[in-house]
Amino acid sequence: MLRKTRSFSQIACALIALIALIGLNACAAAATDMLVSTQAEFKDAVKAAKPGDTIVLANGEWRDFEILFTGEGTEDAPITLTAETKGDVLITGQSNLRLAGKHLVVSGLVFRDGHSPTNTVIAFRRTKGDLAYHSRVTEVVIDQFNNPERFETDFWVMIYGKHNRFDHNHLEGKSNQGVTLAVKLDAEESRENHHRIDHNYFGPRPILGSNGGETLRIGTSHYSLSDSLTTVENNYFDRCNGEVEIISSKSGRNVFRGNLFFESRGTLTLRHGNNNLIENNVFLGNRVDHTGGIRVINKGQVVRNNYMYGLTGHRFGGALVIMNGVPNSPINRYHQVDNALIENNSVIDSDHIELAAGADSERSAPPINSVFRANLVYNADGSKNVAVHDDISGIAFSDNSMHEDIELAKADNGLLYPVDPELADTGAKKGLKVLERSATGPSWYPKPGYADRFDTGATHAVSPGLDTLVKAVNAAEGGDIVDLAEGDYLVSRTIRVDRPVTVRGKGEVRIEFERTALFEIADGGSLKLDGITISGNSAPDSAGNTAIRTSRYSMLGNYALVVENSVVEDLDTNHSFNFFSVAKHTFADRIEIRDSVFRNITGAVLALNRELDDLGIYNAEYITIVDSQFENIGKAVADIYRGGTDESTFGPHFLMSGSAVVAAGKDKRNKSRATIRLHGVQATDIHDNEFAESSPIRIAETVGEPVTKLSGNRFDGTAEPMIDTSLRP
Ligand code: CA
Repeated sequence: MLRKTRSFSQIACALIALIALIGLNACAAAATDMLVSTQAEFKDAVKAAKPGDTIVLANGEWRDFEILFTGEGTEDAPITLTAETKGDVLITGQSNLRLAGKHLVVSGLVFRDGHSPTNTVIAFRRTKGDLAYHSRVTEVVIDQFNNPERFETDFWVMIYGKHNRFDHNHLEGKSNQGVTLAVKLDAEESRENHHRIDHNYFGPRPILGSNGGETLRIGTSHYSLSDSLTTVENNYFDRCNGEVEIISSKSGRNVFRGNLFFESRGTLTLRHGNNNLIENNVFLGNRVDHTGGIRVINKGQVVRNNYMYGLTGHRFGGALVIMNGVPNSPINRYHQVDNALIENNSVIDSDHIELAAGADSERSAPPINSVFRANLVYNADGSKNVAVHDDISGIAFSDNSMHEDIELAKADNGLLYPVDPELADTGAKKGLKVLERSATGPSWYPKPGYADRFDTGATHAVSPGLDTLVKAVNAAEGGDIVDLAEGDYLVSRTIRVDRPVTVRGKGEVRIEFERTALFEIADGGSLKLDGITISGNSAPDSAGNTAIRTSRYSMLGNYALVVENSVVEDLDTNHSFNFFSVAKHTFADRIEIRDSVFRNITGAVLALNRELDDLGIYNAEYITIVDSQFENIGKAVADIYRGGTDESTFGPHFLMSGSAVVAAGKDKRNKSRATIRLHGVQATDIHDNEFAESSPIRIAETVGEPVTKLSGNRFDGTAEPMIDTSLRP
């Protein structure tokens, strides 16, 4: 049974009709609220709904609910689907939402603890031919509603049709492959759509380690010469780090206005399509790695009054990038920049402005008919940041302040402006509005904090003995420290780590283990070891043991592994005994080894080589080895593989310094024949290490513009590093 309640508007209509003797037509379809508690009641309510009606989902959990919301409202009387209390209706399990028809409004729902069984969580269509128009999704949350298989692609939101609005929503933690929000132009009915995407909170999107991690995409190359006329304004992009494109605009006449990009890796890219406008946006990189600004390609693009601060990105990920094009470009390559207007932007304390970027034998058409005026480029340290890669006579420069020694002061909006009144019209305008995070998303749903992963919680004291370590780790909360007293610890089972945990030793702390692995990092887990000794002496006499491994299955959560002040020894009960092994489709944000000793290991120390499909997928973003020693290691100290030719990632990054390697990589089972094997690594820095009686460093540069730095290393009884550039584009 549906409960129907007489609404205020119904009563008001009756009064108006009585008093004025008019308005009977307007009030003929009196609005009804229908509170529903089951999926069957919901279906009946959708069938019965008339313009002005509201369907209310009862508070509580709605599990495995594929919501199909169709109907024909009117501009003055839309049909609404909402929650009894906004935020208290949880859509969980195998669920999604499709809306189709006209003048529909959805609000107040929270999608979490599940994923869509289809390729979309919220679709503005029922089928290919039945789309939504003049409809709105507002104050809806999608929080980590991810397919558990990292590389099973889906989209959280797909907007079809015309004149739809997506506003004040909260989208956080998309960790599997696929764009967070896409505007689709694949039907005539979806082009020139006038959609509005505004006041949304795009929360942290972790590094995917592959293409397909865009937060927002409008169109695809196929329809990119069509106009989309989509407005993206006043959205907050908070640490949207999925891949090199935060936003990929692939259509014409879109507007990007008033958005704030906070510490987000990548750029707003005008990848395909013409006559787009980017204005009044603020990019705060705060010197975080790979934070970027705007990349310009194609015709008639206007970039004005944007403010960029502390952006570190380089090459296509720079603060401001104007690309070279391909003559007579195919639709999916690079159209020449023509008639671009770049004015009144401020680029402050940022590392790279790239002009005619990507110039090569294919991309040989430099920008033409373009204007670069009244921009402010300033670096407090006096460094110059403009790189010119081809003929830029097609860009007219005027009234810019480039690298001048001027004084800046903070204005009321927190942004920096020149003090000199003569420069009042240079750079971003005074009064540029800086979007507050709190002005985006629903006010009732909390936004995530900025806490560190490790060492934020309680400390648990543990005594030596059998499985005391197991019990302590199992009892630890995320961020806790397990503090081991001096003595011997025996571990009879693999310890599953599904929260960030630190295991710290005081004095002589020695751990032995009886299973094929000591620790397994599972989804949600991270592990820090500090001041302990791990020995393989009690490990089974079988090949392929590992001290630490990831889950054997795909992991959504990126993890960290940190090893400090520790000793790892005698992983040699049988062959191919690794210190750390990963499974396919797992990803580390960082792996760090500092001030530690590894000796007598028959396998590899870090085996990060499980993505062999050459799809541009890899296993770890930052791998750092500092001030450590490696002695008698059968396979590689680090084996890192990133295959494929796709250019959508910034990593992997490899840093090794101040370390000594003796007798490593010489086991006959070491297929890499290397001490350090780096394939497809984007940033390599190996300096001030000593290598003795070991296999060589082998580096294969493959994709993008890899940066390889080697300096101050000593090689005794070890061949010089071998760098293979034959696979470079
Ligand atoms: Ca991409």
